[in-house]
Amino acid sequence: MVKDISLRFLGTSSQTNISRNYSSLLVKLDHHTVMIDCGESTQRQLQNRHIGGDERLSNIRHILITHLHADHVLGLVPLLCTLMGPSNAVDPSEGKRPRVEIFGPSGIRALIRTTLTLCYTNLTGYYCVHELLWPNQSAYSNAPIIAEDEQVIAASIPESTEPLLGAMNGPQRTIPHLPPLDSELPGIDFRLDEQTASWPSITSISGVVVSAAPILHRCPAVGYVFEEPDAASTSVSTEMLDALQANAAALEAQQNIKNPKVLLGKLTRDRKSVTLPDGTILHPPELDIPGRKVVVLGDTYDATAGLDASADYEARGMASLAENADVLVHECTNAALPGSLTPGKREEDEKHDEVRAKALMRGHSTPQVAGQFAARCGAKQLLLNHFSIKYPAPHPLFAANYSQDDPTPRGDQERRFLALQEIERQATEVWHNGIPGDAIHREAALQRKAIAAFDGFLYRVPLQNEHDHSNGSINNTHDSSQQDFDYSIGSQSLDSYVSSPPRRGRGSGRRPFGQQHFRGRGGRQSNGSSRGQYSSSSPRGQKTVYE
Ligand SMILES: [Zn+2]
Ligand SMILES: [Zn+2]
Repeated sequence: MVKDISLRFLGTSSQTNISRNYSSLLVKLDHHTVMIDCGESTQRQLQNRHIGGDERLSNIRHILITHLHADHVLGLVPLLCTLMGPSNAVDPSEGKRPRVEIFGPSGIRALIRTTLTLCYTNLTGYYCVHELLWPNQSAYSNAPIIAEDEQVIAASIPESTEPLLGAMNGPQRTIPHLPPLDSELPGIDFRLDEQTASWPSITSISGVVVSAAPILHRCPAVGYVFEEPDAASTSVSTEMLDALQANAAALEAQQNIKNPKVLLGKLTRDRKSVTLPDGTILHPPELDIPGRKVVVLGDTYDATAGLDASADYEARGMASLAENADVLVHECTNAALPGSLTPGKREEDEKHDEVRAKALMRGHSTPQVAGQFAARCGAKQLLLNHFSIKYPAPHPLFAANYSQDDPTPRGDQERRFLALQEIERQATEVWHNGIPGDAIHREAALQRKAIAAFDGFLYRVPLQNEHDHSNGSINNTHDSSQQDFDYSIGSQSLDSYVSSPPRRGRGSGRRPFGQQHFRGRGGRQSNGSSRGQYSSSSPRGQKTVYE
């Protein structure tokens, strides 16, 4: 069983701006770090201790890509160059083992091969790319020599209304077909399992099984699910040891077992019952700690991909895989806000239908879509990311010390804070209203609120049924909310972050500024928001079409 599972967000925007970077997050499974998506400048985010905390590049051995849009992959090759640059050359005696394994939709092999080739770059270590293929999609060959007529392949899948093929709809690409460089080891082509509409068990990291399923976006996109196996709180009881001891002589005489404790491996590791010579049957310890489930989606306007349960079908795909998630990360690119919270403080409120239609057209979600899927899968916690440039994050210290009771207007920082709080409120409302009565996390979910993630946001996934965090580093509660997160703000004083320091709100005087480490929590005064980085000027971004 994994001791700590946590998520650290390195980039939470669809377009880079001064308070948020392009998409990337880390899933930490004890000492194993898995990166999901790697937008431009992700390694700089990781190296910034206010955002990456104490995470190390060198711990990354698995990178999962949700889709090939530029805001999710353009940091990938630069990251590989750092991980396998001249200063990180591998010892040839280590043999040909991949330093990094990369998973994702077809196109990643081509992206890496082409970029490395064009940039005259040789890596000093080995990597491999495992590609997830939809039905009928051609594999991108690992063969060292490519036949002349195959040197360019078109990823052309005809438009289809069949859900699994429908996920492939989108602009067509023509891909240069280059042979692998020396640093690339052959990866696996995972063909979608049509029965479950997923790519089940594509890898296992620290015993946590990773699967993927298609979700709908403007190009082939997937979400990833991490499932920790159930565990036993006790491994061996004294009764078991006594029974083994009582049978020691007979075990040696009859089965030539000199040390009866070797049978414990069969019980705890193989989980098989053991019958002793005197007829006693020992059973494996009960798996009484349910494993946790973490779901991280890529960009999507419909995570069920049209594969939700109907009168005729059981749910398949992500609708089935994500069921009872302990935490769901869902994109929330757009939202309809009251006029006062829009960037220009418009007079009119934005209309939900219009914003939703626009988001859908671009393949993205609103708080309502995210809340609906969280309810659909009975998620215990909903985290939102991939915000449009219209929703920059306020400085975390502003957020941590905000008080509605303070009448002083605090300009753009306050607007950012309240806009994200409103986005959280909208998502929470739909999520809570839709949770099925029999959902196993229902009670826990109703005590939580959706959280708008920000760059540097760290979320530790509590054990199921864990009310009182035994780990002191996340125990900062005097209410029942478990929406705890940590900021690492270093030792700078507040003045180095904000031009006009916000004052502590009444009753919130538990945020010592300039402290090495402090914690904030969603669910503070005014029903809490959980915000991120400060920026001193309005971000100006060019409109992108590739998010
Ligand atoms: Zn995107
Ligand atoms: Zn996208």
